[in-house]
Amino acid sequence: APGEFHAEVVVLGAGPGGYTAAFRAADLGKQVILIESHTTLGGVCLNVGCIPSKALLHAAKTLTEARGAEQYGIHFGQPEIKLDKLRAWKDSVVHKLTKGLSMLAKQRKVTVIHGTGKFTGAHTLAVETPDGIKTISFDHCIIAAGSSTAYLPGLPDDKRIIGSTGALALTNIPEHMLILGGGIIGLEMATVYRALGSKISVVERMAQLIPGADPDLVKPLYKRLKAACEAIYLNTSVNRIEADDAGLKVFFEGEQAPEPQRYDQVLVAVGRRPNGKSINVEAAGVHIDERGFIAVDKQMRTNVAHIFAIGDIVGEPMLAHKASHEGKIAAEVIAGHKAAFDARTIPAVAYTDPEIAWMGVTETEAQKQDIAYEKAVFPWAASGRAITMARDEGVTKLLFDKTTRRIIGAGMVGPHAGELIQETVLALEMGADMQDIALTIHPHPTLSETVLFAAELAEGTITDLY
Ligand code: FAD
Repeated sequence: APGEFHAEVVVLGAGPGGYTAAFRAADLGKQVILIESHTTLGGVCLNVGCIPSKALLHAAKTLTEARGAEQYGIHFGQPEIKLDKLRAWKDSVVHKLTKGLSMLAKQRKVTVIHGTGKFTGAHTLAVETPDGIKTISFDHCIIAAGSSTAYLPGLPDDKRIIGSTGALALTNIPEHMLILGGGIIGLEMATVYRALGSKISVVERMAQLIPGADPDLVKPLYKRLKAACEAIYLNTSVNRIEADDAGLKVFFEGEQAPEPQRYDQVLVAVGRRPNGKSINVEAAGVHIDERGFIAVDKQMRTNVAHIFAIGDIVGEPMLAHKASHEGKIAAEVIAGHKAAFDARTIPAVAYTDPEIAWMGVTETEAQKQDIAYEKAVFPWAASGRAITMARDEGVTKLLFDKTTRRIIGAGMVGPHAGELIQETVLALEMGADMQDIALTIHPHPTLSETVLFAAELAEGTITDLY
């Protein structure tokens, strides 16, 4: 009947988890319908997350590097920032990638239905589309409905209080912006707006910025931000905000709480919440917890055997590469493969300036869990390459098992840390020990040598850094 569809596999949500699952299932011979409420594919990551933020961070980096060039004798003068052009360029980056996804869907004969889907039973969904309700029945379903920005209750409804999506829209460069939340997303946006000329203040409830990372890795970032920002308040939270014509008056409480301050804009970056409560999963008999997360096993299967869930909606860490990895597993399990989530680690990267990246156990976790570990720390002040870049504040740290000397964790801070971390991820997956890394030839002069040097320090084959 018109408005009625059937698919072997229905994927709900077309973010990195959903599109990866849909494409993999189609490649494995399944007939797939992909449901997405947005007009474009790609989810949060491509439309309002990873990609636009990295485009703006790239522009920010150009500005900071130009300013920093002064120290080696190159003066560029005041940059002229054409905000409309920058915004258009960022949008074109997003468009290129989301259009690419539409083509990949077409090539695989994945049917894309744009609309908002909700479960109506264990084998059916109703999708509200611009042309009315469509009913879809399925043999298997993969829930990939992702997450949304978490807001603080009690804040006034004012367009100068924005979330990450508002910040990425780049409608204006506020004179003074408060970043509410010193996690990855908040600090990435702080980096962008600082470079574009805003005065920035940051307030964080916990004792350090980026609370998930080791304190020694956060220190160089903190130092640089502290010098560039108006203020950073730690162990402090926002109590209330009063909005009037002159701006936003913010009241703080906590250890470093200042007197009430005025800002032109407040960016709320206090985390993300799963979209589990908005898709009526109860109708399918799928369990969700009180926060809206859906529990799954290692095969990404929910408590209902033919319904799977992946990505942000199944839990932390809410990262695109975790979502896509899980998407492949769900599709393969549905196609009858013996697949399961078996990654030893999910690396994390803050694309701040400097970048912070870590994988495996952090040192804080190793201490808490009483793991018998040793560490090797190589300061970038002794890296020829870092010095040639005039950026020698970085640190590379390897954690390894005391007995087997196998790598169990790594963390880095410094420019390009997000690219450098991957060598240690592979080392962990391959069960490499310190000797394996120390005996591997690394190109000179590169930042990747800092991993080699740290391993050589662990092995005692280098001792004196300077
Ligand atoms: P999502 O990307 O959230 O996609 C879910 C999709 O489902 C959405 O398109 C939504 O419209 C759709 N949907 C939801 N409900 C329905 C429904 N009922 N019917 C139809 N469609 C529905 N991660 C990284 O790894 N690296 C980064 O650099 C990074 N940067 C980020 C920067 C920002 C500012 C933000 C906000 C996030 C960032 N993330 C980053 C996190 C990353 O975006 C998410 O982890 C990732 O997008 C999760 O993918 P997903 O497939 O689970 O869901």
